Amino acid sequence: MPLLELDGLSRRFGALLAVDTVDLRVETGEIRAIIGPNGAGKSTLFNLITSVVKPTAGRVRFANEDITGLPVQEVAQKGIARTFQLCHLFPALSARENVRIAAQARDQGRWRFFGGDAVLRRSAEQADAALQRLGLERHADALAGTLGHGDQRLLEVAMALAQRPRLLLLDEPTQGLSVKETDHTVDILKSMLADRDLSMILVEHDMEVVFRLADFVTVLHRGRVLADGPPAVVKESAQVRSAYLGEFA
Ligand code: ADP
Ligand code: MG
Repeated sequence: MPLLELDGLSRRFGALLAVDTVDLRVETGEIRAIIGPNGAGKSTLFNLITSVVKPTAGRVRFANEDITGLPVQEVAQKGIARTFQLCHLFPALSARENVRIAAQARDQGRWRFFGGDAVLRRSAEQADAALQRLGLERHADALAGTLGHGDQRLLEVAMALAQRPRLLLLDEPTQGLSVKETDHTVDILKSMLADRDLSMILVEHDMEVVFRLADFVTVLHRGRVLADGPPAVVKESAQVRSAYLGEFA
């Protein structure tokens, strides 16, 4: 059974079909990139998977369970965590506090079983583990707003990771990064994913990043899946080259 299965997933905004009958499967341990021009529906697809936006048609199945339309918090508790295309951190709190708040979000509702102190201790441990996995431990006490842009994006990944997801969704993790920062981010993500206990979908514009990280690529164009396959196969597809890669070449 695939970990994530999208079946005819669609979302309409007025006259616009932003996501149009998307079928997609992600296996456990898989790293999948979603590429496509601006406005293709990539972020909306993430919003549909995480239930931030409700589909107008189709189903989302995760770990053999239909999660379509569940409240956002319940989807997170099932094991799907994400980052956003635009930064979502608290600049005036330390890196560790940012991650700890994210770790605690997953435990909401379990407070009364564990008691406040135990939850705080546990979330602090989870925060430190996540910071370490992203190579950010030396920045733990720095205010998030003072970190470099590349480290801020990694901090967002740490925040998602601290929720102990089975599926991690990263929306353009290298957006706005220098070549050097991008390289570092890819190295860190590769080491984070090395043991493959985690599946990941990333939206990514940088084809080099896609080729270094992804097992499979889905090309979205005007809300529809235009191509789906290993990176080399997708790259060779003439249809993809003219519809997507051509726009950037
Ligand atoms: P991408 O992430 O691929 O650049 P998006 O998923 O952000 O694309 O957007 C796809 C299309 O849906 C765009 O035309 C965008 O303007 C539209 N859209 C996204 N969210 C909304 C919304 N909440 N209301 C209306 N239109 C939206
Ligand atoms: Mg987007």
